[in-house]
Amino acid sequence: MLQKYIAKSPWVFHVNTGGCNGCDIEILAALTPRYDAERFGVKLVGSPRHADVLLVAGPVTHNVIEKIKRIYEQTPDPKLVIAIGACSMGCSVFQDSYCIDGPLDEVIPVHVYVPGCPPRPEAILKAVLMGAEALPEILKKAEKGELPPAPDIKEKLERYTKYRKKVAEEASE
Ligand code: SF4
Repeated sequence: MLQKYIAKSPWVFHVNTGGCNGCDIEILAALTPRYDAERFGVKLVGSPRHADVLLVAGPVTHNVIEKIKRIYEQTPDPKLVIAIGACSMGCSVFQDSYCIDGPLDEVIPVHVYVPGCPPRPEAILKAVLMGAEALPEILKKAEKGELPPAPDIKEKLERYTKYRKKVAEEASE
């Protein structure tokens, strides 16, 4: 049973980085009384500063790349990042779109992947509970400086700045 995975009550913060909202509907469903995540202590919070777990859905678009990086930095250690759905894992149907900067793990570190388009609420809930069990280990590694560094997104940010400039120039013509 899932109860065996609970080492603490994981508080989650939900972000969409540019998907179709299908994954978001399933994330919200996982948090409703139908699936009753609160029986495991799972609680949705309104700020990354209060979260243990980031639930991220969708491919990373130009417009959110800085924001998702900031949200990651604002979440206190030890934190767990869960990529929800095929878009977050590999861009899926948004692959090669003009406004996409890549899958989530090219922007911030990802610890757990939940495949599906969209994944079922049960799979999302299980990922949160199993992932929460790894938080003490993640903290130990963070304290020893053994966690891999966050991906370098300088090039992506430069590309985004050029893109915004081009859009502004076209709008002023
Ligand atoms: S994985 Fe599927 S449901 Fe989720 S955001 Fe992408 S297209 Fe939408």
